[in-house]
Amino acid sequence: MAKGSLFHWGPLTALTIIFTLFIASVYSSLVWWQPVKFTGILNICLLVVFLFCILYNFIKAAWVGPGYVPSQWKPENIEHAKLMQFCQICNGSKAPRSHHCRQCNRCVMKMDHHCPWINNCVGHKNHKRFTLFLFFVIIGCSYAAVSLIGCVVEIFSISINSLKDSLRQALNRNSGNFKQTLSEFTQVNPIAYRRMMEEQLVPFGFYHLLGTIFCIGLDIGVTIAVGILLYYQVRDIVRNESAIEAWIVEKAAYRSKNDSKFIYPYDLGRWENFKQVIHFKGDYIGDGFTWPVIDGCDQYTLTVEQLRQKQVKKHFAVDYKSIEGYNGSFCGWRQGFRTCLAFPWSLEKRLRFQKEENLLVTRWRKYWLYGMKIQEEENSVKDPEKGWFPRNCAVRVDDNEGLESNQEKPKDQ
Ligand SMILES: [Zn+2]
Ligand SMILES: [Zn+2]
Repeated sequence: MAKGSLFHWGPLTALTIIFTLFIASVYSSLVWWQPVKFTGILNICLLVVFLFCILYNFIKAAWVGPGYVPSQWKPENIEHAKLMQFCQICNGSKAPRSHHCRQCNRCVMKMDHHCPWINNCVGHKNHKRFTLFLFFVIIGCSYAAVSLIGCVVEIFSISINSLKDSLRQALNRNSGNFKQTLSEFTQVNPIAYRRMMEEQLVPFGFYHLLGTIFCIGLDIGVTIAVGILLYYQVRDIVRNESAIEAWIVEKAAYRSKNDSKFIYPYDLGRWENFKQVIHFKGDYIGDGFTWPVIDGCDQYTLTVEQLRQKQVKKHFAVDYKSIEGYNGSFCGWRQGFRTCLAFPWSLEKRLRFQKEENLLVTRWRKYWLYGMKIQEEENSVKDPEKGWFPRNCAVRVDDNEGLESNQEKPKDQ
């Protein structure tokens, strides 16, 4: 299925929630806030405007997508290709700020993350639309929650007032005779209640009330969850740092402790950073290949840092050979009780292999290792398979025998 397609569980679930809340809000408005006066009409108009803003930004974010680096892309000056990473799947250079997304199977311009709700990546071309989508979901849902709460409060206040009125009238008629009042009251009240219900435009019974309370819960839940997401989005926008770049910067601080210092090139100041994404100049600014950078940095400052980090990682990588096959099971249940209990709490892939395969390990845990298969053919176009596997399936291969027992293994970072 094509990326950006709305026929996927993510967008379909999101659209179902949006329409459920919209219909519930309109229905309750027709009952309790009828559009006959100005405020009632304004209320319905606001609900429609919020729905439009949410859907417009949602569909644009999903449909337009993040912008992809063309496959087999090379910079104009071929010398610059040496300053960039190479994507073996797209068979081209990775433009500055782009990353390969496994779900989209493409290199994505200024990739932030792959979002299942829009069934697409969030990146250069849809960053603004995605952020505005989150913003309008919060505005729309909190407004709907307030109007639905208003509706429930109205139901209770009308019911209680109606009961109170009936009771007071009955007490007056019977000059305080409580027994007489009670018998009259039980007869009168259902009539008063029925009349109250007949005055409504649409019926509103007990199950409608339950449905409304459910929608209020959903509204509040969505507002909180999306609010947290928007907070992180805005934080990253004012830093001009995607989620992946934040991770590169963190690793750079660790790497440059004893080595050359790294300066993050895209931080132009909070307000300038904000304007790079949120502005009135269409969906996005720039071509997705070149970016404004601060003095002292150039277009390749970040890509060069990525290459350095890769070198450091290679330096720490260690050769292993599998001594038995591993079927890629999530917990490694065949490899013993302890391995199974200590499985990595991560959705990262597991690395399936046969006996006697060559592996390159980059991360270590007590019962598990993370690494990749070593490719036999040089310059293979396939991206090497990576993942976790049980430690007891492989042994370390050392040029010098007995080195493993004498040398401390690199620690997991
Ligand atoms: Zn790629
Ligand atoms: Zn993606």
